Order: sequence, then structure tokens, then C-alpha cells
Amino acid sequence: MSNFPLQNGVLHAEGVPLPQIAAQFGTPTYVYSKAQLLDNFAGYARPCAGRDALVCYAMKANSNLAILDLLARQGAGFDIVSGGELLRVIAAGGDPGKVIFSGVGKTVREIELALDKGILCFNVESIPELHRINEVAGRLGKRAPVSLRVNPNVDAKTHPYIATGLKASKFGVAFSDALATYRSAAALPHLDVVGIDCHIGSQLLDDAPLLEALDKLIELIDTLASEGIVLHHLDVGGGLGIDYGAGDAAPVPIASYVERVFARVDAWRADKYDGRPIKVIFEPGRSIVGNTGVLLMNVEFIKPGEEKNFCVIDAAMNDMARPTLYQAWMDVQPVTPRQGEAVTYDLVGPVCESGDWLARDRALVVEPGDLLAMMAAGAYGFTMSSNYNTRGRAAEVLVDGENVHLIRRREEPAELFALESLVG
Ligand SMILES: *Cc1c(COP(=O)(O)O)cnc(C)c1O
Repeated sequence: MSNFPLQNGVLHAEGVPLPQIAAQFGTPTYVYSKAQLLDNFAGYARPCAGRDALVCYAMKANSNLAILDLLARQGAGFDIVSGGELLRVIAAGGDPGKVIFSGVGKTVREIELALDKGILCFNVESIPELHRINEVAGRLGKRAPVSLRVNPNVDAKTHPYIATGLKASKFGVAFSDALATYRSAAALPHLDVVGIDCHIGSQLLDDAPLLEALDKLIELIDTLASEGIVLHHLDVGGGLGIDYGAGDAAPVPIASYVERVFARVDAWRADKYDGRPIKVIFEPGRSIVGNTGVLLMNVEFIKPGEEKNFCVIDAAMNDMARPTLYQAWMDVQPVTPRQGEAVTYDLVGPVCESGDWLARDRALVVEPGDLLAMMAAGAYGFTMSSNYNTRGRAAEVLVDGENVHLIRRREEPAELFALESLVG
């Protein structure tokens, strides 16, 4: 992670030593690199230049307004999964006309809001949802742009909790039902059937399953066109993985994947479509923000045990859920590496759950009061955090060169129960 260099024996975020951030804002704190964020986005945007293409950042990965604003300024659209996320896009100055709305359970109120704000497209996941969107659009005197999320039945070969493209998944319309579902959609009076999308899973290091899914979508677009249902966009979803430092194969570089998508689309259009335009949409989340952030934390106690040694830190499962939720391996680095003999620890937080661990069996040279950094923590970190155990959520800081911006202050305990009331 080149934007988090070890300089003079101290881990930095760009030009700022992490101990300086801990001293100023406390711990645990999420620290993001602006340069890394823009670099990742450019990996998508650069090969899209001069083409009919849109990068819709899947903001559930990290929805801080400052991050959204920086991406919106680069021309990003957004992939949202709730009405709340749409309001965040608008609060950050993003364009609702570049928003696509995914998710299996859109409520009537969310559909009304999205139609009112004029989003680009609803990514629809079921027939009842098509009917609901049609009804709401009719009642509001509008037409709703829709795409069907097709389940291409491709094995993403990733963790079962983040694989979404198999037959047994709750997501999407089965490939075998897609044609009939498109016909039903085309027959509904208040819908404009404009696109097709898929999203087969997350943290894919190899793009072969993504390209296989793309081929299946292309096949379906051709079949639909032969029935007179002509689509205007092709949304390949997200899912590209990042390097968590676990020694896995390196992920495909973003730009290489994007270029491979365009190569296939171009070959197909030249072949079948006589150059008829089709917009290509990407929905990346993790690959935009994952390696832009670290979680900075403090060692509270060292607790030797008979079978295990514990390193008790001030960050916990409520701050970073990925390890306990997905058995995810996250790299942890000392901020100021010490000389000495390493001891193997489980890194655990103060939350009252045995599942409250952030890393296991790590050889570290640490003492109480040392700072540690959980690397590549920018995606599905803060956004999945909770207030379990009445713990205020961590502060978030964005570093830009030598400058440090507080982009979300730490939550105070009194704020955590401010919405509650006594029975009377
Ligand atoms: C979560 C999600 C994404 C982003 O996935 P990443 O693996 O973070 O790139 C894209 N599209 C949909 C529909 C999603 O639910």
C-alpha cells in the first residue's frame, strides 16, 4: 500500500505519521488516503474516457460524504441499496441522474423517493418488485427506468457470504426465467425497460467469472433484441477484489479488467450490433475504497494465557465486522515496529463476545500503548460498524498529502441514547 509507507521507522498515511493522527483524534480511527482513492477511481475512469460508460461506485462499501463528494467530482455515479443512501448522494452533491438503485427489498417509500429525485435506473430483482415499481410510477404519473438483475449462475469462487450469483442466492432473477421476466416488464405501462445487470459476488481476485457473466448477459441482450426488447445499457456489477496481504494471488489490476470488458463488448457490437451504442456501467465498491483506508488502534493490555496469548486492543468487532462475520483475514502492522522477539497473539477487542477478534495467530513485537494499523480496512469497515456495547463509532480522517481532514468525528456516548425515551 504505497500511500501508507513506512518512513523513518514510522507508518504514515501519505505524508502524515500515524502517531500524529492518533494524538490528535484518538483511537480507534479510520484513516483514508485521498491519493489512493483517486488512483483507484482512475483505474476505472481512464479506460472509460471517450466511451459511453459510467462508473457507479457501490457506496455501501464506504459512504462517508467526503468520499462521495471526491468521487462525484471525478464524474462518478453511485450504486445505492437504500433510500438513505440516495439522500447521502444528494447531501454530498452527487447527481441522482447517475444513481442506480439495487437491492431485493425496495419499499414503496424508497421507490417514491427515487422516482421523485429522478434516478438513472432501478435494478430490479423480482417480478413482485416490477409490479410495485410500476404501480408507484403510475400513481406519481411517471415512467420508471428499470433493468433486471440477472443471475448468470456463475461460480464466483469466493466466500459463501459474498457470493451472490449462484442459483441458491436470494439475489437476482434466474437466467432461465430472465426472458419471461423481461416480457412481463415490457408489458407494464409505467416502466421503461432500459438495461440489464448482474453482480455475482465480491472479492474476486480473478476476472474470469466476471467475464463469463458478461458473456451470458450479452447472449441474453441478443435474444431480447430479436424479440424487439432493445436495451440501452449493460451493467456488469462490481466484485473485483483487492490485496489483503494474506499471500493470495494478486488481484487483477482494475484497468486491465475494464479493458477486457470493453474488448468483449466491442467485439460483440462489431459482430452483431452494427455499432449500435450500448452504455456500459460498472458498480465497484471494494476495489475503489478497500486499500484507501487503515484502522488505527491502540494496544491496551497484553494478556498471556495457557493456550493463547491475547493482545487486547481498543478497536473491536463493532468497529470492524469483517473478521468475525466472514472469517476475513486482515493484515495488522505495528505503526512503529520494534526490535525484539515476536510473540504470537490473537488480537481481541473489549466487546463481550468470543467472536470479538480482529486477527488471530499473529507474530508481533508489541507493548501496551503501541499503535497498530489494520491495513486495507477502507471497504465494509466503517459502514458495517455498530454501537454494540454502547461504543461510539470510530472517527474518520482523510489525509491529503501533509493535510489531515476530520471527515467524521467520534461519536459521544450521550449521542448513542439520545433518541431513546423512558416509558413514562
Ligand atoms: C455490494 C454490491 C456491489 C459492490 O461490490 P464490491 O464487491 O464491493 O465491488 C455492486 N453491486 C451490487 C448490486 C452490490 O450489492
